[in-house]
Formats: sequence, structure tokens, C-alpha cells
Amino acid sequence: MSASDTIRIHLPDDRNYEIRIGTGLMDQAHSWQGLPKAGAAVIVTNVTVAPLYAQRLREQLSAIYPRVDVVTLPDGEQHKDWASLNRICDHLLGEALDRKTVLFALGGGVIGDMTGFAAAIYMRGVSFVQVPTTLLAQVDSSVGGKTAINHPLGKNMIGAFYQPVRVIADLDTLDSLPDRELSAGLAEVIKYGPIADAGFLTWIEDNLDALRARDKRALAHAVRRSCEIKAQVVGQDEREQGLRAILNFGHTIGHAIEAGLGYGAWLHGEAVGCGMVLAADLSHRLGLMPSQFVDRLRTVIERAGLPVQPPRLGGERYLQLMRVDKKADAGAIRFVLIEELGRAGLHAVPDARIVETLAAYGAA
Ligand code: NAD
Ligand code: MG
Repeated sequence: MSASDTIRIHLPDDRNYEIRIGTGLMDQAHSWQGLPKAGAAVIVTNVTVAPLYAQRLREQLSAIYPRVDVVTLPDGEQHKDWASLNRICDHLLGEALDRKTVLFALGGGVIGDMTGFAAAIYMRGVSFVQVPTTLLAQVDSSVGGKTAINHPLGKNMIGAFYQPVRVIADLDTLDSLPDRELSAGLAEVIKYGPIADAGFLTWIEDNLDALRARDKRALAHAVRRSCEIKAQVVGQDEREQGLRAILNFGHTIGHAIEAGLGYGAWLHGEAVGCGMVLAADLSHRLGLMPSQFVDRLRTVIERAGLPVQPPRLGGERYLQLMRVDKKADAGAIRFVLIEELGRAGLHAVPDARIVETLAAYGAA
């Protein structure tokens, strides 16, 4: 059985592309037809995802491309670095693959970001296709055109804006995803409700159990609506001049939690989930939202299987961590706050208010 849905992304300079969302897409010839013609395709993946899906994708692509290679990288955020990027470039150059070569990013956000960056710089740019296999990658990282690797001095500090030629989000790949990774992806799904679509938040509340049970109809709607909202926001602000910042709801405190505990202790989505609860509390404290909103958001985040109790790092440490975050200005720390359900904006928040919120959650 297979069913799919297509979102068309419109960008200047003929860079339009489609996001296809559905079940059975990986094994369907139609998913791979109509891509740029080339002598070779290169699947970039990692040691966890390769045994699950690389052979299946390779079979499909072999019907279209005379040559299909697989580059298998180590798994993990710590490998989103120059060494992995070099391994991709070494393969492309070592095999003398030309500028028509099409790259396929098969994996989560780490593989998507690295493959996209490799595609942006190899011979000044080759085509690439996103084949996201985590919920986070399907609802967030594969849309929007940000690509990057990490540097020891900062996450995602070396990168480029570069768009894929297509995104194939096969919901069946989520069946093999660990529960914890699924919940982390749900944090970014939940995020889109309060910042852009009150009705979507209600829909998530009504369908959360189905989502956690990986019901394909529920996942299809969640991925579709998330991609639409992200594409709409990014479409108005491709290079992050302003509006795109609302996508960082929950991320200011989230990044502080990730950095404060040491990267990897909490998954990004877990930190963002908790960060959204605290940002909701700040929205209430600044008189923008009623207290019921804070309770509502905390409940849905908890039901998604995410932590809602921030680690006790201490108020001063939190402030220090948030000041070094790139979203902070010289003066007061700026937060994405909810102004009404479905609308968010950036607000400078006095330190005292932040510490009040942290103290209310036992984290100061
Ligand atoms: P990830 O890529 O590390 O994947 C999480 C884990 O799941 C990994 O161990 C991976 O090997 C495994 N995995 C992937 N697909 C699987 C499957 N179908 N079955 C079983 N296991 C599977 O993490 P992620 O959460 O997907 O992405 C996080 C990355 O995305 C970060 O590096 C972040 O910076 C980046 N990101 C980028 C953007 C953007 O706009 N470009 C947005 C958000 C996040
Ligand atoms: Mg995020």
C-alpha cells in the first residue's frame, strides 16, 4: 500500500522543488523519476541507517543512474565534522565523479546537513536529494535549505544555504526509529502550533497517541503541516533576517540546557520541549498569555514523552549560557514568546524575569 502527498516549494531562480510525504515512497519508481540526469548517483548515509535502507534505495536508483555508490559515515553528531565532509569529497574526487553527479542524503538531520553542504561545495555545487529518515529531519532539517557541519568552537558554524532538488519523506522509515528519537521529533512538530497555527496544536493534542503509535495517517498530517509552516516562514525569510527566528521558539533555553549538560546528554528535541515550557511561562509572566496556556503546553509536551523538568544548572549559569547563544544581543536576552495562540515574536526579557521562571521550575 502506498499513499502520498506533495508540497511544492517556490523559490526564486528556478530552485523550486517538491517535498513528497507518504508511505512506500522509497520502493516506488515514481519517487525517483524526473530528477536531474547524471552518470552517477551517490548515496550518503551512516552505519545505522545503511543496513536498514541503503540497499533498497540503491536498487531504485540503479534503474535510473548507470552507477550508484554508497558512502557510509560513522553515526553521531560528533561526526558532523570536517573529517566526514572530507570523506564525502574524497570519494567524489577519488572516483572522478563529475559535476552532474546527484547526491542522496539518506538519514537524519546530521546526514542531511552534511550531504547538503558537500553538495553545495563539490565543484561549486551539485544537485542533492533529501531522503530524511528521522521525524526531526522530515519536519524540520530537510526543509529550509540550511546545511552545515560543526566546528569545535560552535555547532553548525561552517555551512551554506543550499536547497535540495527534491525531498522524499517515506513515513515507513520511521518504524525503525527509537522511541526517544520519535519524541524528540515531536517537540519540533508541537512547536509549529503555538508559533503559527492554533488549530494544529489542537489537532496534535487529539492525535498524540496515534502519533506515538506511528499511525501513518496521523504522521502524514503532522509532517505535511509542519513542512508547510516551515516552508511558509522560510519562504518569507530564506536567509534568516528576522521572521525565521520564530522557528527558534523554545530554543534559547533549549540550547542552554544542551550546552550546560554537555551536548548529547539530552537530545535536541528534549531540550527544546523543556525550553518551550519555560518560554510559555515567560510569555505568561510578561502578560502575553494566560496561565492556562502554560499548563496546556506542558501537558502536551509531557504526553509526547518529553522531559518538562529543566536541569538545575543555577540561574546565573543559565543566563551565562544564553548570553553566548548567537540569538542574544548585547543587552537583555531575547526570546521567542507566544503573543497569542498561533502568533510569536521576539522579546527582550529582563534577567530577573528569566530567573523567576527558572526558579518556578526548580532550575535556578
Ligand atoms: P540524527 O541525524 O543524529 O539521527 C538520530 C539517530 O537516529 C541517529 O543515531 C541516526 O543514525 C538514527 N536514525 C536515523 N534514521 C533512522 C531510522 N529510520 N531508523 C533507526 N535509526 C535511525 O539526528 P536528527 O535528530 O535527525 O537531526 C539532528 C541534526 O539536524 C543536528 O545536527 C541539527 O543541527 C540538524 N538540524 C538541522 C536543521 C536545518 O535547518 N538544517 C534543523 C534542525 C536540525
Ligand atoms: Mg530545533
